[in-house]
Amino acid sequence: MKWKRIRGKYRKSLHIRLILILLAVGIAPLAVIGRLLVYSSRENHIRSRMTELQYQSVAVVSELEERDYLSNMSQPVLTAEIDQLARFYRGRIILVDSDYRIRKDTYHLAEGKYNISEEVLSCFGGSNTARYDEEGQYLELSLPVSGKDGTVKGVMVITASMEFLTSLQDQLEDQRRTAVIIGGLLVAVASFFLSELFVRPVKKVARAIDSSSQDSVGSDIQLEDCAETVQIAQAYNRMLARLRTLDESRQQFVSNVSHELKTPITSIRVLADSLIGQEEVPVELYREFMSDISAEIDRESQIIDDLLAMVRLDKANAELNISGVNINEMMESILKRLRPLAMKRNVELVLESFRPVQADADEVKLNLAVTNLVENAIKYNVDNGWVRVSLNADHQFFYIKVADSGIGIPEKEWDHIFERFYRVDKARSRATGGTGLGLAITKNIISLHHGAVRVHSAEGEGTTFTVRIPLTYRRQEGEV
Ligand code: ADP
Repeated sequence: MKWKRIRGKYRKSLHIRLILILLAVGIAPLAVIGRLLVYSSRENHIRSRMTELQYQSVAVVSELEERDYLSNMSQPVLTAEIDQLARFYRGRIILVDSDYRIRKDTYHLAEGKYNISEEVLSCFGGSNTARYDEEGQYLELSLPVSGKDGTVKGVMVITASMEFLTSLQDQLEDQRRTAVIIGGLLVAVASFFLSELFVRPVKKVARAIDSSSQDSVGSDIQLEDCAETVQIAQAYNRMLARLRTLDESRQQFVSNVSHELKTPITSIRVLADSLIGQEEVPVELYREFMSDISAEIDRESQIIDDLLAMVRLDKANAELNISGVNINEMMESILKRLRPLAMKRNVELVLESFRPVQADADEVKLNLAVTNLVENAIKYNVDNGWVRVSLNADHQFFYIKVADSGIGIPEKEWDHIFERFYRVDKARSRATGGTGLGLAITKNIISLHHGAVRVHSAEGEGTTFTVRIPLTYRRQEGEV
């Protein structure tokens, strides 16, 4: 088990992998080149020996021809020359006449016998042959011996031993092996240091990340070794920056939540304390304070409800209950529900439906999103103002527009109003029962439907929210 773990660890090690690759890349050519050198040196030897043999044999053959040796063999000088040539090449010379009879054999074994070999026949045909016998390790050369009239009178077959090649080859093999071992050792040492050189930047990155993560928020890392490590460092730093922003916004959120939850409790406490502090409080005052306390409790519970809605809408946990929704009917029901609120301030509330719209949506959530927009349009309006809601669609999206004649939102606030707990005018928001979470919830719901919401406003003139949502809902990767 332990051995397996160690083996697994080393198999995955970049260091070991690099060493093995460098070793393979370094030693394989060494071995191949060594073998090629041994082979080519052997071939060269055979070739040069053959040339030399041919050169000397041709010289002897021309002497044989000149002195017509085959007709008159009692020429001791020539006989000695033939014997010497055979000895020199540690081989054998055979002279065959036109009847294929062996007239001379330096081994004196075949004289008087016949030789009708392929080589002899082709020599009588006028061409000489040369070959190397791998098994017997000898060279064989057959040359035609012509008479004075130019006709082929006989054939000289000469063989030359190449046995010395074996020992030469063994010697070369030994040298090759030594060269591969020494080269291999050098390559091994070089690959160890080279791989160390390659792995060093990676180790440096790991160390830098390690020491950076000791810090709770993480500190940026700086690496200048090579372009790749700089890239890793930059990517890591970008990720850290995102994590820090996330951490900050989480902290901000927690502090906002605590503050929001504390405000009604503080009011309740002040109201309760002032009742306790007074003696003989009239019943009317009790009633008034108690109804204030009840309103604060309502507020607290509203904040908690909105918070819970927010948490549930958190993208990672959100589950949409998608179905085909008649958006026209949904809009009508929202406006019907909010009409009493509008009437309180004599705000005119109109719905303009340009066409029937049927879309894929989570009706409950979308209803909440639009309700928030229309409710805001009424809340942040002026007395006797108007709210115009319109519904339209093209082949891909449907559009909901909520326009009001209210107090408007300064341009610099447009980006912030969708943040959690953000209010342009805190006092007014609180007075109207706002928690600062409505638009954050709305935006969340619209994003879950893969839609978008935009705001346009002019201070003192009014505000228009435009929502665009795809008619067909397509689940994206990672969504539940
Ligand atoms: P709240 O609960 O305070 O209404 P929201 O998230 O719904 O919180 O809105 C955030 C802030 O945006 C509000 O406090 C208000 O200042 C501003 N706001 C939203 N809608 C409108 C609107 N139609 N007209 C003017 N101001 C608006």
